[in-house]
Amino acid sequence: MQPELPFADAPFAYRLRESARARCVGLRVTLQHGLEVVLPRGCDPAVVPGVLRRKQRWIRAALDRMAAHLKLFGPPQPWQLPAQIELPAIGRVWRVEAVETASRRVIVREAGADCLRIIGRISNEKACRAALARWLLAQAREHLPPRLHAVSERTELHCQRVSIRQQRSRWGSCSRHKTISLNAKLLFLSPALADYILVHELCHLAEMNHSRRFWVLVAKHCPDYRHANRQLRDMWKHLPRWAS
Ligand SMILES: [Zn+2]
Repeated sequence: MQPELPFADAPFAYRLRESARARCVGLRVTLQHGLEVVLPRGCDPAVVPGVLRRKQRWIRAALDRMAAHLKLFGPPQPWQLPAQIELPAIGRVWRVEAVETASRRVIVREAGADCLRIIGRISNEKACRAALARWLLAQAREHLPPRLHAVSERTELHCQRVSIRQQRSRWGSCSRHKTISLNAKLLFLSPALADYILVHELCHLAEMNHSRRFWVLVAKHCPDYRHANRQLRDMWKHLPRWAS
């Protein structure tokens, strides 16, 4: 029996990703993955070919732009461990020392005050990214809650719980149950920008929206918030490759 090709009628090759946060089917074209379809959790993938057909003009234009970029700049560089890792929010820089071993698992160890040793199959991008992500999460769990606590004291806005995660496209969020979620990647921001995110999420404890009243409250604790918002828009592009 022939294996079934479920979406052979789709007009483009694509890669599928499921997201708990997506409300509708999303499309992205990136150099790394080409066309990526983001599906809300529980949504039937059978809808994809229809979406691709409806959006084919947009997709074709985006793929053309990507092809032009590849022609100009060549394919993305092969994976390489970073030579150093900097976390500006906490003012730390580590030099990276790679130790290649046959072990499938990659681990990250602090070796002295300013050296990180990355041990294992370091040519394996996926394993290295996963190991560095675990290390980043541990750093964030150590440093962000005390910092949030300090900003809480200053602003007199207190949350019930803080959770540290690694979201793809948001720096932080605040739930109705007064839980603040912070993105571990805040550590890549300047101290001032990271503090702005903390102020922003704490202010959501009082105003669960982006109303005028919310921004008045933000301005009280962070007068320069407009500038911070503008800077943040661009920051995703400046994350190190291993973390983006
Ligand atoms: Zn907000």
